Amino acid sequence: MGTRAHIEFWLDEEVASDSHAQKLINEITAEMNRLDHAMSPYKENSELSLLNREAGKRKVTVSNELIALLAKAYDISVMSEGAFDITYASIGYQYNYRERIRPAQSSITEALPSINYQAISLDETNSTVKFTNSAIKIDLGGIAKGYAIKRCISILRTAGINYALMSAGGDTALLGDRNGRPWLVGIKHPRAEEKNAVHIPLSDEAISTSGDYERYFIEDGKRYHHIINPKTGDSARKVVSVSVIGKDATIVDALSTTLFVKGLKEGMMIINKLPEYEAIIIDNEQRLHFSKGLQQ
Ligand code: ADP
Ligand code: MG
Repeated sequence: MGTRAHIEFWLDEEVASDSHAQKLINEITAEMNRLDHAMSPYKENSELSLLNREAGKRKVTVSNELIALLAKAYDISVMSEGAFDITYASIGYQYNYRERIRPAQSSITEALPSINYQAISLDETNSTVKFTNSAIKIDLGGIAKGYAIKRCISILRTAGINYALMSAGGDTALLGDRNGRPWLVGIKHPRAEEKNAVHIPLSDEAISTSGDYERYFIEDGKRYHHIINPKTGDSARKVVSVSVIGKDATIVDALSTTLFVKGLKEGMMIINKLPEYEAIIIDNEQRLHFSKGLQQ
């Protein structure tokens, strides 16, 4: 998944032992690896790579798990009028932030028509996927980490754990509180590494932050980073950081990317219509904005 993951949990005194803890850590690691093997665009044998190779030509059968995740991504694309769109990838794959490589405007113009979530045809009953435009490529970077940490937290819950924190990159999911007190989750300062802009006390929730400082390079004073506006093929630049809070780590992950593309005004409009989700947006002047439910 190209990022660092962190897991923290408490064992009840009666069952606490290094070997029990290690067993759970092994299960979590295995789950992360399993999902990476299924959903990585870098692994030739992943289901995702199979789709990108074949679904433009024929119906491809995938796991129930993947089709369910694709359906969630699709719903968020519909809800956001395409601000969240996993087919951003035909342009996304032309960026290499480490090597400071970005597509020429001509390549963007050429690829834009194949950024279109509506060209993903999902048959949930038969678990098949077909791309109705053969140039479509998809990438789950905006939603898969949220799904992965949600899965890991549910493994811990099933194992009888009451207090846990799991994070991967900018995504964090919490199980219970921190042994009687809320977890304090820091939202990174977008322009000062190692600093936090704010700390949020949370229990039993997930929080996902999308920032323009995770993967980027600056060229001629312009920041090119990993969140792409599907309408333009260029990096989204209306805000610098968006955090979304809610129960469902998968949705929260996708929503943070969505709001980042939408910007402050439209982003807040979306989140204020979703009673189960809240947002903290940091604008280009580094001002913090809170959704309605957080303003108290
Ligand atoms: P991070 O991956 O740093 O936690 P995000 O959750 O915001 O941050 O996800 C950004 C990732 O989402 C990008 O690296 C890319 O894989 C993917 N992505 C970029 N733009 C879009 C978009 N418009 N819609 C869906 N996914 C996107
Ligand atoms: Mg996201």
